[in-house]
Amino acid sequence: MTTVLEALKAAEQRLKEVPDPRLDAEWLLSEVLGVSRLEMLLNKRRELNQGEEAAYEALVARREAREPLQYILGSQSFMGFSLKTDKRALIPRNDTEALCEEALKYIRPGCKVLDLCTGSGALAAAIKKLCPGAEVTATDISEAALSLARENAERLGAEVRFVRGDLFSPLAGDKCDVIVSNPPYIPESLRGRLQAEVEREPALALFAGADGLVFYRRIAKEAPAHLLPGGRLCLEIGDGQGDAVKALLYEEFIDIQVLNDLNGLPRVVSAALKEEKRL
Ligand code: GLN
Repeated sequence: MTTVLEALKAAEQRLKEVPDPRLDAEWLLSEVLGVSRLEMLLNKRRELNQGEEAAYEALVARREAREPLQYILGSQSFMGFSLKTDKRALIPRNDTEALCEEALKYIRPGCKVLDLCTGSGALAAAIKKLCPGAEVTATDISEAALSLARENAERLGAEVRFVRGDLFSPLAGDKCDVIVSNPPYIPESLRGRLQAEVEREPALALFAGADGLVFYRRIAKEAPAHLLPGGRLCLEIGDGQGDAVKALLYEEFIDIQVLNDLNGLPRVVSAALKEEKRL
């Protein structure tokens, strides 16, 4: 018979290649036992039955093969909401909460909000929950991602309109107050060189051409037709992309700011569409 403590030690050893072996071992075992981590750690001498041992073995093997922890556990917290996660979409990142918070500064009841490349639906659903009076539309080109996003919105009881399509293409002449987007932004050259877990997430959600800026170029060009005068554009950016994205926005936008995430890294570009040009 194996105790909780022994099982954790053995799993930690097997997971030594993953970034946080002990913590992952604990999360996976508490999932198998159906108790909180704290409760499990308070009962370290409890013995696992055969079924639990086998179930734990299966989960540890998946993690050892570098499947992301959140795909195995099936959920991730975003803005305090528990979202379902699986391989249909990118796992919501805590970094993206900085983008959500920036967008929320400009969202009031009655505002029309558009979330481009919604993926798991994290931004759209969290915004609708935190400002229920807003009218939220979300698009994604991936049908798989949209099905997960719909499940997430339903799970949170957030009424979001989901539309399948490439960026603005399904939206015709709709104009909104705030556009928010965490588009793919990793340069193609990094494919195959990312953290093993990230490589297990959908490539469609990650890579954006040779310089990673493909979607920012398109959004900078197409957003003005979909924003009301003075409307806000809030974008997540990757490492070192702040200046390039700012440069793309100078012509049509004002008040262009680059904001940091909680780790102090530049993570968000926020800008307002110029008021209508006077002739
Ligand atoms: N933040 C993600 C990462 O670093 C990338 C997300 C994206 O491309 N939008 O893996």
